[in-house]
Amino acid sequence: MARLIRRVAIALVIAAAAIAIYAYQTLATVDAERVTDDVHVLTGLGSNVGVLRTARGAVVVDTMTTRMQGERIRTLAEQLTGREVEVILNTHYHLDHTHGNPAFPSGTRVVATARTRKLLDALDAKSWTGDAAGTLPNETFDSSHEIALGGKTVRAMHLGRGHTSGDLVVLFVEDRVIHLGDLLFNGRYPNIDLEAGGSIEEWIGTLDRVLVLDGFDRVIPGHGPVTDRDGIRRFQAFLKELWERASAAAREGKSLEDTLASTTLTQDAGFEAIQVPFLLKLDRPFVIRRAWQEATGAVQPVAAAQ
Ligand SMILES: [Zn+2]
Repeated sequence: MARLIRRVAIALVIAAAAIAIYAYQTLATVDAERVTDDVHVLTGLGSNVGVLRTARGAVVVDTMTTRMQGERIRTLAEQLTGREVEVILNTHYHLDHTHGNPAFPSGTRVVATARTRKLLDALDAKSWTGDAAGTLPNETFDSSHEIALGGKTVRAMHLGRGHTSGDLVVLFVEDRVIHLGDLLFNGRYPNIDLEAGGSIEEWIGTLDRVLVLDGFDRVIPGHGPVTDRDGIRRFQAFLKELWERASAAAREGKSLEDTLASTTLTQDAGFEAIQVPFLLKLDRPFVIRRAWQEATGAVQPVAAAQ
């Protein structure tokens, strides 16, 4: 018996070590993909990171989930552009877009909407103590903000509520590339942060305001592969169908259980679920539940999201 227990214990230690190595490798792996001569997208566990080369320094959009990933992003951005990172933009407050910030020098220019800064302070303050506080957004705006750097123009815009109430989109003007943050999940079920002012109903109109911009061809989503205008339209068609189904269920007074059991969707064909270990699973039941909660008013945003 003692021998069996020892064998089981050894097997468990080996399994734990294998999981730790896998987790480390997954977190440490960040790959770069060219979008234009001066724009790259970095991919890894967490969100897609945009990198712009200018003659005076690099611009980075979002920083993934951990300080270690942030260090990798910083190194890759410097390699790809031959310059130091001058400006970071955070598309919204979620940890998989912001928690790499502390890998950059304290006092680095960090651009976000004023509402994103409020949401960080209200919902994630514990992550931004000590030296991390030096890379909180320190350059905030309400509707639009332009950065001119080394011959390039970076236009950050808040076009309305959607994934949260504070999302910005970033247009790399000369390269005709737009980074939509989590206003676009390309081929994936989205997170819908109702507590942070997210709204499926408003999201549809926000994407209309993206589509009327004529200054871009390529589209970097928050999650999923790089796409184009059709990728935005496909995701918008999914949101429309989801909202129609949920608002009809709310009008008919259906319970959440009835809505989950009876709702069919077609516009999510081929969508992948996203599993965030121990936190949440983004799949069809998740998006139907969130849509029902919004349509029935079951979940209200926190004060900072207003
Ligand atoms: Zn997000």
